Amino acid sequence: MTEPGSSESSADPSRPATKRPVGVANEDAQPHSFPNRLAWDVVVIGAGPAGSLVSRLLAQRGNAVLLIDAKEFPRDKVCGGCLSARAIAQMDQAGLGELPINAGAVPLDAFEVHIGGRVSRFALSGGYSLSRRTLDQHLLNAAIAAGVHFVPQTMAVIEKNCIAGRRVVTARHGSHISQFDAACVICADGLLRSAARQLPELAAETSPRSHLGIGACLQHPGLAFEERIRPGTIAMAVSRDGYAGLARCENGRLSIAAAISPVSLRSAKSPAAILKRVLASAGLPFVDNADSIDWQGTPLLTSHARTVATERVFVIGDAAGYVEPFTGEGMANALESAWLAAPLIDQAVRQWDPQLAQDWNTSYARAIRKRQWPVRALGAMLRYPTLSRVLLRIGQFVPAVPRWLISRINDPRPCTVTTESHL
Ligand SMILES: Cc1cc2nc3c(=O)[nH]c(=O)nc-3n(C[C@H](O)[C@H](O)[C@H](O)COP(=O)(O)OP(=O)(O)OC[C@H]3O[C@@H](n4cnc5c(N)ncnc54)[C@H](O)[C@@H]3O)c2cc1C
Repeated sequence: MTEPGSSESSADPSRPATKRPVGVANEDAQPHSFPNRLAWDVVVIGAGPAGSLVSRLLAQRGNAVLLIDAKEFPRDKVCGGCLSARAIAQMDQAGLGELPINAGAVPLDAFEVHIGGRVSRFALSGGYSLSRRTLDQHLLNAAIAAGVHFVPQTMAVIEKNCIAGRRVVTARHGSHISQFDAACVICADGLLRSAARQLPELAAETSPRSHLGIGACLQHPGLAFEERIRPGTIAMAVSRDGYAGLARCENGRLSIAAAISPVSLRSAKSPAAILKRVLASAGLPFVDNADSIDWQGTPLLTSHARTVATERVFVIGDAAGYVEPFTGEGMANALESAWLAAPLIDQAVRQWDPQLAQDWNTSYARAIRKRQWPVRALGAMLRYPTLSRVLLRIGQFVPAVPRWLISRINDPRPCTVTTESHL
């Protein structure tokens, strides 16, 4: 388990002192990772890429940051583990450009689409594949190194109303409950939105045609796979039931992540059975011992929050909205939203102004939502294998079109929508 940082924060002494806590901790019963300090500048809920990065950026600006996650770390997560060139550029501008290589990530140079036994290949550049277990632990370590206090295995709930200009978060670890208060709370709680959905004003809509996610990261996928999926290639298997992405990551591991129609999942006996069907129809082998693998699942994937900020609460990453997976836009969006929100949150800690919530809604719409249309278009195309095959054939004769689409998704150019430069 990751050891949390010191319970004393790295807060800038020049900041106004945080007010008295509104909650009372049951100190006798504290699990060792619960801090004694109850009043924070920022409480961040969720230690995925969005939560860890925003925590680090805010701690670097002198804020006392408490980061809470429901899971024990390191943890697995349903994800293809493919970091696009844009995600790498985001890490680079946050001073973490070396992280993927240091963690053993595999450089990506090809993208293959498998449909009905036929393969179309496209060149990729600038991306890496790395398991989420390893990536998220490294990002979390970078946050802790910046002075963030991390509390694992703890469910956080945001209380509905602000009290004396502070937000209150109730944290539950088994039977231990503490309340922390903060000038701002960040919901980086992923697709589940288990904290964000406590506040009705942050409600999200889920697309009725949305797929569900299934995945695992395997150490020994079997010889058939090792021969077929070469390190450096993202292989996408497309079928009527959904689509699955496969990539080799650090130490030869294989990540499998699929977006599956809920109807197909219900009709199959198990996640292993539906994945086997998807891969077989695309002409790919299946992994050894699939029934003994602990496949993880997700809720419906495509969702959209109408509002991504309310009084002293900012929503970032998947919790703000998600379009089904393809070649790495999910983590790039999560990291970019952390980067863009951090200066606004920092201002909100100094002095709350309702305009800051409005500013985050506007920045998010301009920077993230507007980038999602090529992914939406590709996600729609992948639902129809025959149409996909026709379009891919056309793409082989007019390669500028798929090249342009991939470059739109992969685009490493930094976002121009900023309200204040980072330190
Ligand atoms: C099938 C599939 C394949 C994908 N493939 C890729 C890919 O190859 N490349 C890519 O870039 N993206 C991919 N994605 C998308 C990517 O996984 C997400 O976009 C990314 O994880 C978003 O990061 P996040 O920090 O917003 O949320 P998450 O990584 O989901 O982190 C949220 C964290 O919040 C914690 N949490 C939730 N609720 C609470 C609570 N109440 N209290 C405390 N903690 C809480 C969770 O435990 C979790 O650790 C894929 C997604 C799916 C479903």
